[in-house]
Amino acid sequence: MSEQHKITLLMSEFVTHDVKRFVFSKPPGFTFEPGQGVELTINQPDWRDESRPFTPTNFVDDKVLEFTIKRYVDHDGVTKKLHGLPAGSELLISEPFGTINYQGPGVFLAGGAGITPFIAILRAQYRSSADGGKNHLIFSNKTPADIIYEKELRHYLGKDCILTCTDETVAGYESRLIDKDFLGEKISDFSVPFYVCGPPGFMDALTGALKELGADPQNLVFEQ
Ligand SMILES: Cc1cc2nc3c(=O)[nH]c(=O)nc-3n(C[C@H](O)[C@H](O)[C@H](O)COP(=O)(O)OP(=O)(O)OC[C@H]3O[C@@H](n4cnc5c(N)ncnc54)[C@H](O)[C@@H]3O)c2cc1C
Repeated sequence: MSEQHKITLLMSEFVTHDVKRFVFSKPPGFTFEPGQGVELTINQPDWRDESRPFTPTNFVDDKVLEFTIKRYVDHDGVTKKLHGLPAGSELLISEPFGTINYQGPGVFLAGGAGITPFIAILRAQYRSSADGGKNHLIFSNKTPADIIYEKELRHYLGKDCILTCTDETVAGYESRLIDKDFLGEKISDFSVPFYVCGPPGFMDALTGALKELGADPQNLVFEQ
């Protein structure tokens, strides 16, 4: 296992009914690229063997680390334990890893908590304004209540923030699964980078549809 660093939970707060934002101390010298993940471990006897991957969602040069984590309540896993940790709890963090990084203006396709690597990237892009107005987001959730950082994403991307809710029909949101027809309707240029992150079924369906629509497999950016 790569080197681990101790971090301390400073605070947590709900950002949706089942997603919390966590703020931790940042180890001296620790850095990451927006979009990279780390392994987090709760530093308690019963949990030290249960590392799980999560993605820092804040700016690389912030003095703290932020994570945005969805909990699974149906069993006693790491995310359920994380959501119940008090401030002051100690965790271990690995060195960063991963293949998702910004490769220029393109289309971000996210399902549920799959938005997390893109939050770090879109925040960094909005701040630098280097590619302001050139990125698009298509983000799928079950209902509006499940959408992480909805107002912030709409603010960054304006009309290029397309939100779809698959379990409810609500004004202001698309109400269907993202598939080949959906992509063909919403996207005019398939030569740009496509950033894809979501559950396994989402990944398979979307990478397949993008290739059928003419996207270059070299331009598909996802966690491998
Ligand atoms: C590179 C990477 C980065 C990631 N970044 C983030 C992030 O920033 N934020 C985020 O929220 N997620 C992120 N994830 C996903 C996150 O790692 C998982 O949600 C987490 O590992 C789940 O841990 P767990 O111990 O709670 O659940 P696990 O025990 O690992 O279970 C995961 C899934 O299996 C089901 N499951 C397993 N066992 C049972 C059981 N006994 N009964 C019922 N259901 C069960 C759960 O419902 C859940 O769907 C990332 C994943 C990767 C690969």
